[in-house]
Amino acid sequence: MSQSKKEKWWKEGLRFQCQGSGKCCTSHGEFGFVYLTPDDQKNMANFLGMTRAAFTRKHCQKTQGVLHLKEDSQNPDCQFLKGKSCSVYEARPTQCRTWPFWPEVMNAKSWAKDVAEFCPGVGKGPLISAETIEKTLAEQVLAEKQILNEVKS
Ligand code: SF4
Repeated sequence: MSQSKKEKWWKEGLRFQCQGSGKCCTSHGEFGFVYLTPDDQKNMANFLGMTRAAFTRKHCQKTQGVLHLKEDSQNPDCQFLKGKSCSVYEARPTQCRTWPFWPEVMNAKSWAKDVAEFCPGVGKGPLISAETIEKTLAEQVLAEKQILNEVKS
């Protein structure tokens, strides 16, 4: 199916507003690790007053060659979650800013089944326009390519 056909279901926009549940920061469930683009690494390091190398040593790890925030196998919470808030909010990674408009879930079935069941922000708040969704989606698509080293940052 072409991308334009896939997009049809959200062309009138979608309602979404973060409800501050912290759910996506305690466990991404099927959505996996918090991956970082080179710019995400730089921004977070700057925000924390660290060099990028020191930030990477302290806060990151690689799985199958792909960099992401370190996870504690005993605790699914993101290391930057304090209470229900992100302690690096201004410098949070691209995938945190673009959620839930990720290419892998922007099909009607995944949206209804996986995203809406997982995230209490779906269906709430103002209508997010198709234009904004498209822009956010494009940002996430680019970030995923940068994370996988398919394009330079
Ligand atoms: S970096 Fe912040 S927004 Fe992203 S998962 Fe961690 S606590 Fe949540």
